Parts: sequence; C-alpha cells; structure tokens
Amino acid sequence: MKRFDCGTLVPGCDWHTRAEDEAEVVRRAVEHLRVTHGEEVIRPSMVDHIKQRVTDVQKTEA
Ligand SMILES: [Zn+2]
Repeated sequence: MKRFDCGTLVPGCDWHTRAEDEAEVVRRAVEHLRVTHGEEVIRPSMVDHIKQRVTDVQKTEA
C-alpha cells in the first residue's frame, strides 16, 4: 500500500489517501488538490512533489 498525507504538502490539511499503486495515490491527490485547494492547473513539478511524499504502508497497519 501507498499513502499520501496532504499535510506534508499543504500545511494544516489533514486529508490523506491510500491505495495499492503509487499512480492511484497520485491521481487521488491531484483530484483533491483541484477540488479542495483550487489548484486548477497541476504542474509536473506538483506531481513530483506528491510522489516525493508518497510513503509505503505495511499491510499490517491497514
Ligand atoms: Zn489537502
């Protein structure tokens, strides 16, 4: 499992998501940034920032 915590990118935001694939986590994070933070244009650098903050989650924690 992969996990992304929005608070690592947007201080104060407690939204997070997890999925089996990094690509799915990134997709959800991009959607969240659009809807919640008004980022209408997601730049490639933004995607890189998200990927850098995606962490592995052990299944036993799920
Ligand atoms: Zn957020």
